[in-house]
Amino acid sequence: MEDLAHGTRDKRGHWRPNKPLVGVAPIYALPPQPLKVLRWLPEYLFPWNTLFALSAVLYTIFIVPPVETVQVVAWGWVLWLLACNAIGVFLFYGAFELRLYLQRAQQGRFKYNPAFPADSPNKTFWFGSQTRECILRTFLSGVPVWTAIEVGMLWAYANGIAPWLGWADHPIWLAVLMFLVPVIHEAHFYCIHRLIHVPVLYKWVHSVHHNSVNPSPWSSLSMHTVEHILYFSVALWYLIIPSNPMIMVFALHRAGYGAIPGHFGFDKMELGRDRAVDLHAYAHYLHHKYFEVNYGDGLMPFDALFGTFHDGTAEGDRLMQERFQQKKQQRKTPTAPI
Ligand SMILES: [Zn+2]
Ligand SMILES: [Zn+2]
Repeated sequence: MEDLAHGTRDKRGHWRPNKPLVGVAPIYALPPQPLKVLRWLPEYLFPWNTLFALSAVLYTIFIVPPVETVQVVAWGWVLWLLACNAIGVFLFYGAFELRLYLQRAQQGRFKYNPAFPADSPNKTFWFGSQTRECILRTFLSGVPVWTAIEVGMLWAYANGIAPWLGWADHPIWLAVLMFLVPVIHEAHFYCIHRLIHVPVLYKWVHSVHHNSVNPSPWSSLSMHTVEHILYFSVALWYLIIPSNPMIMVFALHRAGYGAIPGHFGFDKMELGRDRAVDLHAYAHYLHHKYFEVNYGDGLMPFDALFGTFHDGTAEGDRLMQERFQQKKQQRKTPTAPI
């Protein structure tokens, strides 16, 4: 498939889509714009949020042990969940890594940065390899923290600590909540993300994730353990929001599996000769490239409100540079003596 029909490549080989990113989802428009919302809904639901909701339903039915078992924390079921989460991540992340980065099935078509991390060993990373460090951080810290928070929450539900509503009694509220899980995720992620960009936390915590300036699938959960704890603590909101273990699992799957879309490094994945699926990767790719833009992906309007939104166009570059210059100028201007 011809990627230049959908975007442009500069002389350094960096590709950008023709279509600018939208900074604010139409759900916030005033006065309300129902037609725009209807047109936006498929993009919101497909493919990712529907996929993660479906994985949460199947996981809750077939993997999560019965309530009597999770009432008491025991190694057997904890290790079972850890193994299932590790296998799930290995298969899901591994499939994209295999297709896009090992087989290079579509070579560099739709790839934002023309370089493949494996082609240039980098001493910043353990063993000089971005992929190796990212895989190790994912399985040594990411999946265990995810599982620990999941275990804690299941235990809390089973012991009456987390408010548990049944689907039969509260179908509408739970359906609405299911729809809102990605919005809650985005609000939580935006807040913790701004927090870990505070210089001292950035240096000790978040810089680990940003070492992947040219991200690939395994970069998704390559984080410092403190960031893993903050990131997966999105499930703790369900200690106060009356809901259901399935919805809490959806929140964890949205965080755990949902980290990958922003880190593909590709805008689209080709499916055959003439078809390609949009991967929704560009907003977060720009965050990895420029650091101080797109802390979220536009589902919450915070970046647009606080002036950190980058729409991916040349005009977006210009506005960003202007903002960086202003910041630099402010730092240089001495404060008046009192
Ligand atoms: Zn990232
Ligand atoms: Zn960041």
